[in-house]
Amino acid sequence: MGQALWENVKAVLETRVANQTFQTWFQPIKQLAEDQSVLTLKVPNQFFYDWMKSHYGEIILSTLAEVSGRPMRVEYSIVLEDQSELSQPEPFFEPEEPIVRHNGMESNLNEQFTFSNFVEGPNNQFAKAAAEAVVNSKDNNMYNPLVIYGGVGLGKTHLLHAIGNGFHQFNPTKKVMYISSEKFTLDFISAIRENKAGLFSQRYRKVDLLIVDDVQFFKKKERTQEEFFHTFNELHMNGKRIILSTDRPPGEIGLQKRLTSRFLAGLLVDIHSPDFETRVAILRQKSEETGIEIPYDVVEYLATNIESNIRELQGALIRLLAYSSLAKSDINLQLAHKVLMDLTGKIAKPIVSMEDIINHTSETFGVKKDDIYGKGRKQEVALTRQSAMYLSKELTHNSLKSIGLFFGGRDHSTVIHACKTIKLKMDEDDIFNAEMKALLRRLSGPILRT
Ligand code: ADP
Ligand code: MG
Repeated sequence: MGQALWENVKAVLETRVANQTFQTWFQPIKQLAEDQSVLTLKVPNQFFYDWMKSHYGEIILSTLAEVSGRPMRVEYSIVLEDQSELSQPEPFFEPEEPIVRHNGMESNLNEQFTFSNFVEGPNNQFAKAAAEAVVNSKDNNMYNPLVIYGGVGLGKTHLLHAIGNGFHQFNPTKKVMYISSEKFTLDFISAIRENKAGLFSQRYRKVDLLIVDDVQFFKKKERTQEEFFHTFNELHMNGKRIILSTDRPPGEIGLQKRLTSRFLAGLLVDIHSPDFETRVAILRQKSEETGIEIPYDVVEYLATNIESNIRELQGALIRLLAYSSLAKSDINLQLAHKVLMDLTGKIAKPIVSMEDIINHTSETFGVKKDDIYGKGRKQEVALTRQSAMYLSKELTHNSLKSIGLFFGGRDHSTVIHACKTIKLKMDEDDIFNAEMKALLRRLSGPILRT
């Protein structure tokens, strides 16, 4: 019996999911044991398990029931790297050339970019987990290549360096090389010009981990693509790791088909724009790195106004620090506003904090602030609280969850309910409607209230 059951389940799964999915998520799973009611499977690491279980747990269960003809449970066991493999001595080769050094010219790695200073948020969680899994895994065929894609300034290059640095730390004797695809192209062109194409190939085919950033630049460079295709194959065949980044899904770049299909055979992860909370966390981390305290309202202001690009967010912060030291002025909202105007030339969105909202609402409806935060359910208190929640939803970038937390630790569903109630009441009650409109105007009127 042994492997039989899982092998049979796999055979059915193969017909039901895309080939890439099958290769990535089912092929690495091995059977550990089976009995009447339980099939025990071995998965390679925590990251793999979390993702696979949440996406394919159900299909495995149902296919298993079908194949075995009885209801069965699946138990997963995370078996880290094969111990026997670990205890084998590393084969030792006399290096022909000095090993590419992490901090030397040749690896091109920037030590400043690490996992520990990469702020995790819902936008990059999966990419970061995959990157860490690559670093921690002894199995080079897992997620090879790893392709990270996403828009400008979202942290791809940072993650690539973090992988290189992490890999080097775990494997100090191995060779890592980071290169942008532009540099790869330029080097290749000059190698051809100098009749050194052979040397060029050797250099890249010798590494244990090759990291190529922004492969969309290979577009329309047919010979470079061809060279890279061979480099890729050679490395892949020899069980060396390849990590790539691109600004869009590989299939949409317009590269040669054979290259695209190589990229797609690995693991594809994307990075999105960060949400408000992640932007705040990134700004706080960057300001901590500089050792300069930045008031929270300024952080919130920048995070509200720079939404899509972390590089810009960071640029604004650096500029703010520069302005303040040049002008010997405090870091405050006015200064932040000036920086943003200079930077974007646009009128920034008004900045309203939930505290402002509570102050104004409390005044308008004559309900004490403490009561708004509190638990009281008296009708006018509840209505004032709900109004303030509604205004927070309309005027700030806080999530439902943070609004709930701010208003005395309430649940996000309470906030949803509050917004519905207020909208309904505004439709039905003209006086209330006018009061709310006035509040909205007052709160969103001036760009800066100081
Ligand atoms: P990309 O390569 O996607 O264009 P980068 O990796 O160059 O973006 O990121 C731009 C800047 O933003 C870098 O300075 C990087 O350190 C920073 N950055 C991006 N994402 C994060 C993050 N999650 N945490 C901390 N810094 C980040
Ligand atoms: Mg980049």
